[in-house]
Amino acid sequence: MYDMHPERPDRIAAIFAQCQEDGIIERCTKISDVVIDQEDLLRCHSAEYLQYLDEIFTLPFHHLTPDTYCCAETKMAANLSAGIVMTLMKKVVQNEFRNGFAIVRPPGHHAEPQHAMGFCMYNNVAVAAKAAVHKLGLERVLILDWDIHHGNGTEHMFEDDPTVLYCSLHRFDGNGAFYPGTGSPENVGSGKGKGYNVNIGWPGGGIGDAEYLAAFDRVLMPIFRSFSPQLVLVSAGFDSAVGDPLGRCRITPAGYANMTHLLCSLAGGKVVMALEGGYNLQSISRSASACIRILLGDTVPALTLDSPMDGALEAIETTRQCLIPYWPCLGSLKSSLNDDEEEKSSDEEKDDPVDDALESKADTKLKQKRSQRYQPYIKR
Ligand SMILES: [Zn+2]
Repeated sequence: MYDMHPERPDRIAAIFAQCQEDGIIERCTKISDVVIDQEDLLRCHSAEYLQYLDEIFTLPFHHLTPDTYCCAETKMAANLSAGIVMTLMKKVVQNEFRNGFAIVRPPGHHAEPQHAMGFCMYNNVAVAAKAAVHKLGLERVLILDWDIHHGNGTEHMFEDDPTVLYCSLHRFDGNGAFYPGTGSPENVGSGKGKGYNVNIGWPGGGIGDAEYLAAFDRVLMPIFRSFSPQLVLVSAGFDSAVGDPLGRCRITPAGYANMTHLLCSLAGGKVVMALEGGYNLQSISRSASACIRILLGDTVPALTLDSPMDGALEAIETTRQCLIPYWPCLGSLKSSLNDDEEEKSSDEEKDDPVDDALESKADTKLKQKRSQRYQPYIKR
């Protein structure tokens, strides 16, 4: 029955098979059989929650939430998932590996300090980030989360922490109508962490390479360069990929490759990517393979970019405005909404090269205002 649950073992098997087919497995060093230590989990999760999970994990089957189930093998899977991300992070920080990609499940970014959520039990990337700071002594860690859902758990764990910059691009659908409902651009962090929480909340589905790269260009990369991270962790969910049944967005493998390439220009190339969501097996496999090839130093694929959608540009601009007080580098950039406003033409529309079958009517509405006046920043 649970073979059809979107978060299922086939996901990592499919990615691994694609990487084998693409000839990249033999170019990588494999890490396996490394479980997470309790002390590492305790930096993110409460002792009560970990004890509760240990008890639940002895049951043959249990629902932690209506959509998050566990079975007899979940304990091992969850421990391996967090353990592999942790080990990979350590090897990269300690210069044993140049970079890495953790093909793991269950995912982590929805997991809260005290409860499981959204298919997630341990917050794998957050656990690794905490260890990078508190165990390995790093002072600036960047977490970039491109899963189509906001990483509520990760945000909560670092929102008052200036040593970990959390940045998420996700569907927000206006006022949080999209799961999990968090991720407002106005949430820029709290206390000492003000300015170190960056949310770009897309207004709906249909968002693709042009919109993501515009966000990188106009808001994210200027902040990242200014922050100057010593390590980049990527919550690499591929439910933002073209063809994903949950995200209904349009990032292509080449789009992910280009974003990976940009991230590799930071932190001396110390980039650790960890699988989060993504539920179309073909989409996640091709996307992950494209990212890993960039990590291996392969040529960055060319992109032909549409003009970003107006609604997406507005979302990027909203985030920029929220963050200008904390990141002076953003103040000097030209607003994406001021470009040739008078030349705006409302009746121009492009044929969409991507299969629209999966897009809802609400998503389609957003595409209707694809402006032709905007010249993409990044055009290769
Ligand atoms: Zn997701």
